Amino acid sequence: MDPTQDLAQLQLETLAVRAGTHRSQFNEHSEALYLTSSFVFDNAAQAAARFSGEEPGNVYARFTNPTVSALQERLAALEGAESCVATASGMSAILALAMALLQAGDHIVCSRGVFGATQQLFGGILSRFGLRTTFVATTDLAAYRAAMEASTRLVFIETPSNPLTEVVDIAALADIAHAGGALLAVDNCFCSPALQLPLRLGADVVVHSATKYLDGQGRVLGGAVLGSRAIGEEVLRFLRTAGPTLSPFNAWIILKGLETLRIRMQAQSAAALELASWLETRPWIDRVYYPGLESHPQHALAMRQQSAGGAIVSFEVKGGREEAWRLIDATRVLSITANLGDTKSTITHPSTTTHGRISAEAREAAGIRENLIRVAVGLEGQQDLRADLERWMA
Ligand SMILES: *Cc1c(COP(=O)(O)O)cnc(C)c1O
Repeated sequence: MDPTQDLAQLQLETLAVRAGTHRSQFNEHSEALYLTSSFVFDNAAQAAARFSGEEPGNVYARFTNPTVSALQERLAALEGAESCVATASGMSAILALAMALLQAGDHIVCSRGVFGATQQLFGGILSRFGLRTTFVATTDLAAYRAAMEASTRLVFIETPSNPLTEVVDIAALADIAHAGGALLAVDNCFCSPALQLPLRLGADVVVHSATKYLDGQGRVLGGAVLGSRAIGEEVLRFLRTAGPTLSPFNAWIILKGLETLRIRMQAQSAAALELASWLETRPWIDRVYYPGLESHPQHALAMRQQSAGGAIVSFEVKGGREEAWRLIDATRVLSITANLGDTKSTITHPSTTTHGRISAEAREAAGIRENLIRVAVGLEGQQDLRADLERWMA
């Protein structure tokens, strides 16, 4: 695609397959994979100019690589961001964000319903470096407002949350963060830009675990930080110095994954809604958590800020851990794994896996009960998924 073309005028579907394409002298149709750790200069003067930054261009793959750049350009176009910096994983994106924007003495307000490793990063590791974090109830805007301090620089959320699919009002929270002089960062992993555009809603930063829906086929780890040019420069400064850069191979996989992101997210969301609606009719079910259901407490908000409910469905079976494990163990199609964002559906028991390391009291407070099961819906047939989830009743 002609890089001078105004990307903002193109539809998301078009950007997903066209943005970031720069052909080499061979005029390849599919994007090239540049497996090289360093780049050669024409002469010593050019080397000097590249190193000093006077001349733009590649130097070393810890700084930039054309395949990684292509992914960054495409993902930035999809999220509507000025800049995108790709990272080795979702967690290194969150680490890079904190390292780039914060310093000792700063305070973070974080929703309680974030990814387990994010909780440990903010609440544990970063606290050793003088960064304090207050965790607040995920959907309670008053709690965020109350948690803001003079030194609060970052408000960090995930929406919908894992595994209870709680939805945070991004626009309202952006106002709260900005009123307190803080930035709002949204982990957009569960929706991806195909379903939700946090920057459009007022957020300052989006982070991704590209490991999930962006790749979409469970092949590689990756991550990204998206936001203004100034934020991108700070994040890149940290990355090129500290090193958790995305590998070109992983970038290439994710770049190709983006081409089918929208149709995957639409198909997987539609399948999740169908499955969630069916689950609500089952006699062995206590409760279903899915933003696309009218029974979801924030259904209206979810439908306002997302274009579909996403592909994560959680539910409580009647009974406790024994019944939940029996259901999981009887499945033959679903994969018993904690990963998500794959074309293959996965099933997990959050209270003994992803949330197994937090105390029973904290788990109870977060509403993650022993009878809770999370399904990340993939692309299998609906009848096969239903039969699999009911096999334990046979
Ligand atoms: C998986 C995940 C992460 C961490 O991503 P990695 O690529 O595994 O490092 C962060 N946030 C959310 C919401 C996730 O699901």
